[in-house]
Amino acid sequence: MTSCNATFNQRLDRLVGAVTGELVACRRDFHTYAETGWTEFRTASLIARRLVELGLDVRVGREVIAADARMGLPAPPTLAGHWARARAQGGDPDFLDAVKGGYTGVVGVLGDGDPVVGLRVDIDALELHESHAADHRPVREGFVSVNDGAMHACGHDGHAAIGLGVASVLSDLRDFLPGTLKLIFQPAEEGVRGAKAMVAAGVVDDVDYMLGLHLYSGWPIGQFVAGKGGFFATDKFDAFLIGEPAHAGGNPQAGHNALLAAATAALNLHAIPRHRDGATRINVGKLIAGQGRNVIPPSAHMVIETRGATTDLNAYMYQAAIRVLEAAAAAYGCDLEIKPMGGADSADSDVKLAGRVARVAGGLPGFEARPAGRGGGSEDFTYMMRRVQERGGLATSIGLGADLNGAGHHTATFDFDERALPMAVHLVSAAILDLQCS
Ligand SMILES: [Zn+2]
Ligand SMILES: [Zn+2]
Repeated sequence: MTSCNATFNQRLDRLVGAVTGELVACRRDFHTYAETGWTEFRTASLIARRLVELGLDVRVGREVIAADARMGLPAPPTLAGHWARARAQGGDPDFLDAVKGGYTGVVGVLGDGDPVVGLRVDIDALELHESHAADHRPVREGFVSVNDGAMHACGHDGHAAIGLGVASVLSDLRDFLPGTLKLIFQPAEEGVRGAKAMVAAGVVDDVDYMLGLHLYSGWPIGQFVAGKGGFFATDKFDAFLIGEPAHAGGNPQAGHNALLAAATAALNLHAIPRHRDGATRINVGKLIAGQGRNVIPPSAHMVIETRGATTDLNAYMYQAAIRVLEAAAAAYGCDLEIKPMGGADSADSDVKLAGRVARVAGGLPGFEARPAGRGGGSEDFTYMMRRVQERGGLATSIGLGADLNGAGHHTATFDFDERALPMAVHLVSAAILDLQCS
């Protein structure tokens, strides 16, 4: 085996240059056929196909997704309908059966030595209607989502393309890689639903260095943060209040009013005392209750999330929220059911690994370090970070600027600067080579 040397950088430059067109085409294809969490059937099948073509050892579906650890799974008719759509839209028939039913994770492995370097990219779109305004670039240039109500508005189409780009570049350099590269394509990051199921399937258990990358539209192109932290722990859950209907005029005393129970709970959830140890959040994002004007409302459905700067702070908020819900239900004689819909821990990047990635970026053209910002968001990559760290490995998240039009993430006009795609492939590939060659 040839050892690592300085000629890498030149070869890497050339290889990244050579895949740039493919990266953009790939990102635009995923953007056009946007698929939401756990329904990334076409996307995952095409990723698996490409990884096989590149000579990686590929694992798909139940091999990399623990069924019981999936959160916020869509209803069976939605899964079935979107799977049929994926088949009609050119999903790869060799892999569609493996991902059927919401098993839309893919892992590609290159090499078999030490150390094992993992890269996680997420691949899901959002439940959002994409803008059809004439000046929205995906409209202008013909890659606007054709799947109504599904839009890549967080850049995960780019992340999927970057993962494939890294696979392509490093498979060309495989003779120089003494260790193992593990590319993890994760479904259902939105709503923090997917990472836990991949961790539970053991996909990061052998990883020594874990990297995760996100593009950010709000940061100028080339600005990066290695060791982006401040991810809030979070719980996403639905509360169902079940009361008793009755004639609102003739027999009101016989009813158990789930609407009032939910309204009482909503106000008191937002009144949970803050915690001295740090930042917390709560949001009742949706409340649907009742049936008709003259019926005591027998049911209510609440869509809720809690967050905390640490896992403990989030647990404080979650436990308080459950207590409030139980008390409100009891006050109105209603039953309460809680359904978990997603969750993530807080996690911190390892300073040593983050510093190493930053040094690599500093040696590449076009990169500029950016001061770390405030937290408040959540990201289920934290599950992978924590598992790797618990087992003695190191993990870091990487943020890379890709601003194009100032439109924020999760908005109908989101887009990003595609020049960030080859930059990300360059940075991640160089970091993986650096970690494997010392
Ligand atoms: Zn997002
Ligand atoms: Zn995202």
